[in-house]
Amino acid sequence: MERRLEKIDCCQICQGADIKDFISVIDHNYSGDVFNISECVSCGYRFTNPRPIESTIGNYYKSENYISHNSTKKGLINKIYHLVRNYQFKIKESSIEKTKITPGKKVLDVGCGTGNFVNHLNLHGWNAEGVETDEKAREIAQLSNIKVYKNISLVDSEKYDVITMWHVLEHVYNLNDYMQKLRSLLKKDGLLVIGVPNSNSYDANIYKENWYAYDAPIHVSHFRKSNMKLLAEKNKFKHTKTQKLFFDAFYISMLSSKKSSKSILLGFLIGLISNAKAKKDGEYSSLIYYLFK
Ligand SMILES: [Zn+2]
Repeated sequence: MERRLEKIDCCQICQGADIKDFISVIDHNYSGDVFNISECVSCGYRFTNPRPIESTIGNYYKSENYISHNSTKKGLINKIYHLVRNYQFKIKESSIEKTKITPGKKVLDVGCGTGNFVNHLNLHGWNAEGVETDEKAREIAQLSNIKVYKNISLVDSEKYDVITMWHVLEHVYNLNDYMQKLRSLLKKDGLLVIGVPNSNSYDANIYKENWYAYDAPIHVSHFRKSNMKLLAEKNKFKHTKTQKLFFDAFYISMLSSKKSSKSILLGFLIGLISNAKAKKDGEYSSLIYYLFK
């Protein structure tokens, strides 16, 4: 495969130009290539650098192991993933309701994969649609008669009360353009819910280059809390609260253990410690940000 890379010399979050090397990671999904992750000295934002040019990144997704885009139930970790997923949907839905936005309202799930969360919401009285760029996943989603757009540029403006993005923003190339686009799709006072891995979590610090959620090169951003708050502010969103994605510590730690040839049980224990420590400092393995227009 042709490897065309672009180097980034300016931080997308704070526009700082002082960039240092942070860590090198191996692409465990597809190419086996080594990718570097840089860190902005001013704001601590980490990003894959250099990264594949955007028109070639699709090649790096072509993996049997990419769980969210298929329905395979092979392997222990996959089985656990699917068991926990439905429980997580309930938590995600109820956390939207806690912001006083109630079922019946219009929701757009960006990066909906095979449409499972959209289906969950519609079953519970919401009016939900999805966006999915992967053709195979989109076709599976459309089998259950839900509306799924090919990309966000095809969606009407000011149409949605809520937009959700579960583990999507870390894949996005131009963060500020994307946040502006999302803002334009929301109604006045609409809610944007973003779940992303936290590269300042305990499990990230323990596993280092084997931390599964670095997932370079398909993850181009590796956020920490302060980055997300600044990104929201810059794009005129009001950040209201941050919440944990409790099961991600276990899931990511078990996959990280597998990647570093350690036992899955050790991964489970590190997930447990990560959640316990985060109870005090809030640095959960993955975090959800609630941003209002
Ligand atoms: Zn910066």
